[in-house]
Parts: sequence; structure tokens; C-alpha cells
Amino acid sequence: MKKLRYLALGLLMAMSASVNAQQKKYVLIVHGGAGTILKKNMTPEKEAAYKAALTLALETGYKTLKQGKTSLDAVEATIHVLEDSPLFNAGKGAVFTHDGRNELDAAIMNGKTLEAGAIAGVTTIRNPISGARAVMEKSEHVMMVGDGADKFAKEVGLTIVDPKYYWTKERWDGLQQAIKEDSTKAVLDHGSKKSMLLGTKNHDYKFGTVGCVALDNAGNLAAGTSTGGMTNKKYGRVGDAPIIGAGTYCNNETAGISCTGWGEFYIRNVVAKTISDLMEYKGLGVAEASKIVLNKVGKMGGDGGLIALDKKGNIAMPFNTEGMYRGTVTADGKVEVQIYK
Ligand code: ASP
Repeated sequence: MKKLRYLALGLLMAMSASVNAQQKKYVLIVHGGAGTILKKNMTPEKEAAYKAALTLALETGYKTLKQGKTSLDAVEATIHVLEDSPLFNAGKGAVFTHDGRNELDAAIMNGKTLEAGAIAGVTTIRNPISGARAVMEKSEHVMMVGDGADKFAKEVGLTIVDPKYYWTKERWDGLQQAIKEDSTKAVLDHGSKKSMLLGTKNHDYKFGTVGCVALDNAGNLAAGTSTGGMTNKKYGRVGDAPIIGAGTYCNNETAGISCTGWGEFYIRNVVAKTISDLMEYKGLGVAEASKIVLNKVGKMGGDGGLIALDKKGNIAMPFNTEGMYRGTVTADGKVEVQIYK
């Protein structure tokens, strides 16, 4: 009798554990940039605005998945919300180059087919993530840059804007400040201690490269990243975001990954693909693989973070900065948004 009771209890516990495990299946995750994001520097209004924008993005992505659309559709729809918000360094609200221009980078990748698309240094595409997707789906190429990419986006019918569209006072002031401090140094959009190595004393640069990874009903992963890069960057500078394998990578066999941080370090460490490789060839889990690679970035002097979602719905969202705008949705639609450590 006693034995039977234990058996029943065990069964119950196992059932509730599996329910919990199911509840913790993540289907869509986002980031809005990592950096010196401290509560003491944030007004309640600003914090609420960031949380609302991230929540809207997550809900939009989740709704897209619920409609039975693909993970690529969900990533694109989610990133549109963030690109259209002036709060983030992507699309509207992108940071300025030294010459006072906005040059945008973006990439998207399909985890099922390993197809990828990227654009860099574009100046007229309203939603750069859609430009990246068009390169993937409507050209035979993986990456297009500059005027050619802008021209291509127009040809395939994407929304084209006057470059003035991207202008925001906050980013313009950020550029003036960076130039005042050291006109020759590019400034990370994260004003962290390490980025002072680049020559700036300014700790108030706004953050906000954006990224998203989604897992759809069919079990397919997709990942995307979109950014304005670094304030005061030199003409033609391209960061990690549009470099497949550096800032963006996705493989159904491993995970979808989107990075944010000091791009040069992410390129040199081929961060996203290395995480995928550790999972594929060494059998590591997504959290362990992400931690190892981000540690390496940190040891070399780079700062930032990343988000990763594996095919089973497990996530990792590590960062070595004070904060990272980030959020998740689980399969049951529960949205969570976080900013600080
Ligand atoms: N990784 C981006 C770049 O270097 C910047 C960022 O994530 O904030 O262009």
C-alpha cells in the first residue's frame, strides 16, 4: 500500500515536472542592445517606454507564429517593430557616422536551409531586415552593400525613405558629443568602461542594436539582427551584425543566435558560428556554448551580449555589460522583458 502511494506520488511529480518543462519552451526571444544600462540613469518613463516597445515586438512575433507563419516571418515582423521605434539603434533611431549619415546593417538566416541574406551600409531602406530577407530570397547572393543594396531593395519593392527619416535628436547629439570628446574615435553604442578604450568618456550613449530568434510550429529556427552600428564610425565601417557567423547565425541542428556588442570583437571571434559549432561538434548545450564564446570576447577586451534559442526551445541570453534590453515569449504566450542584470 505504502509502495503504491510512493509510486503515485512519483508519477505526479514526474507529470508536473514535464508540464513545467513544457511551459518553459521558448518560441521567440529578442534583444535591443547591451551596454552600460543602469537603473540609476533611467527615468521611470524611459524604462516603461523600452519595456513597452520590447513587449510589443514580442507580442507581434508571437502572434505571427500563432497564425502558423514561419519563424522567418516572425523574426521579420518582430524586428520591424524595433526598427520603427526611435528607442533602438536600428532603422528609425540609428546612430550617425562621423560624416553625419546613417549607414545601416542587417542580416537574417533560415535555420532549416542555412540560407542567409545580409545588407550593409544601406541608407534608404526603411526596414533593413526586410532588405536582408530580400537578398536571401530574391537574389542569388548572400550579401549586398551600399548603393547597390539600396537599389536592389527599391527594385524588389521595399519601402524606401529619404535618409532624413532616420534622424533623431538623441542620436545627433550623441554624435556631436563623440566628436567633441575625440573626433577620430568611433564610439560603441554602449558607453561601457571597456568602450572608453576607444577614447570616449561619455557613458550616456544610447543602446539598441536589435535582434530576434524564433522557433515556429514546424520546428524551424530563424535569426535576424539589425543595427546602425557605432556612433562616429568611419565611412564604410561594417560591424558584426550583417556578417553571417559573426553577429548572426542559425541552424536547426543547433540554435539561432543574434549578437550585440563591440562588433570588431564579434567578427574576430566569429561568435555566432562558434557557438553553433560547439553545439554541433562538441555536443554542448546552448547555455554552455554561449558562455564559453562570450567569455572569450570579454577576455580579449570586447563587451556585449547575445541571445540564442535552440531547436528544443532552450535559451541563453548572456552579456558582460551592465545591462541588455531583452525579452522572451514561451509557447503558452507568456511574455517577459528584462533590462538589468
Ligand atoms: N554590434 C554592433 C556593431 O558593432 C553594435 C551593437 O551591437 O550595439 O555594429
